[in-house]
Amino acid sequence: MRREPEALSAALAGLAAAERMRRRRVIERVAGGGTEGARVIVEGRALVDFCSNDYLGLARHPEVIAALAPAAVAFGAGSGAAHLVSGHSAHHHALEEELAAFTGRERALLFSTGYMANLGTIGAFAGRGETVLEDRLNHASLLDGARLSGARLLRYAHGDAAAAQRLLAERGDVALLATDGVFSMDGDLAPLAALAAPCERARAWLLVDDAHGLGVLGPGGRGSVAAAQLDAAAVPLLVGTLGKAFGTFGAFVAGGRDTIEFLLQQARTYIYTTALPPAVAAATRVALRLAAAEEWRRARLLELVARFRAAAAAAGLALTASPTPIQPLIVGAPATALHLSAALAERGFWVTAIRPPTVPDGTARLRITLSALHRDVEVDALVAALAELVAAGPH
Ligand SMILES: *Cc1c(COP(=O)(O)O)cnc(C)c1O
Repeated sequence: MRREPEALSAALAGLAAAERMRRRRVIERVAGGGTEGARVIVEGRALVDFCSNDYLGLARHPEVIAALAPAAVAFGAGSGAAHLVSGHSAHHHALEEELAAFTGRERALLFSTGYMANLGTIGAFAGRGETVLEDRLNHASLLDGARLSGARLLRYAHGDAAAAQRLLAERGDVALLATDGVFSMDGDLAPLAALAAPCERARAWLLVDDAHGLGVLGPGGRGSVAAAQLDAAAVPLLVGTLGKAFGTFGAFVAGGRDTIEFLLQQARTYIYTTALPPAVAAATRVALRLAAAEEWRRARLLELVARFRAAAAAAGLALTASPTPIQPLIVGAPATALHLSAALAERGFWVTAIRPPTVPDGTARLRITLSALHRDVEVDALVAALAELVAAGPH
């Protein structure tokens, strides 16, 4: 039945009553034109940004920014077509080769977003009459990819490799198992080695979405898969995004020669969409080079993670076991998360409240993310403000 206008207002009122209404904040500018760390001006207020995924600070790196204009002059503001028509530029092509080298895979294929990479890849590797296994806390795009593929989606308990292994052994029809490498709302790591071996035995494709691990974890920033020492045979489908640690926009899938050729021929979200602007590919090439070369960014980031965790533990804040720059503070009720987020903004910190359905009911949280651009004093001040607000209790 058609949704009548009154039904929409009722639905919106329902969201508001459940404290689930979402709102966008308008960034007026980045303080100091990008040279002043992670500070932004938001709706008239100067805030230290503790919710961006720009973990290495590359989104504002002058060399990355400087790569945009000449590439736009050479190739235009947009690509003008899909990759398989006339949208595939020399920058796209070179970036794919550089991403393949970076991840230690034979080939890589660019997608316009991570969401589309996951929809297209799962759809190409699984379908009706087959099963896709996924961690319960996987990113929405992985869950949607399985649903769209027409395969049966079975979700195992978070991080439960033994449950995944049982399902793989019991069912003869598992085409693919998909997991986040680093879970986006929790910051913990998937048990990759314990998932890879049973997938190989069951001859199921293993897809690891390392949106939050690439650039941040592992030798040279090569991600959670490299940190677990898993090669292309163990993890045949490696998904990465370019809008997080690499600071630009877009995504890729890396894998074996035929795997990637098959995706290029079959993935609908690759075929039927416009290629990224060539200038974005050019800027990403610079970002990738910096991410791989500038080890100090990762070292600084991990130093800040350790500093945050030590200070938060000393202040009695309930941390999760996350070893990554994603440090959630689970508070339970959406209203509590919203209150804390607003109170932090008054003190100069931008930390978004993450509420259901993004996270399970009863686990609304502040998702604090650290960046190599943060200063020690900013992290210390955030922890002090959090400790004070949590101790004051709900309003
Ligand atoms: C952000 C994210 C995506 C989506 O990537 P986009 O390029 O932003 O569409 C996919 N998977 C995970 C785990 C993510 O965190």
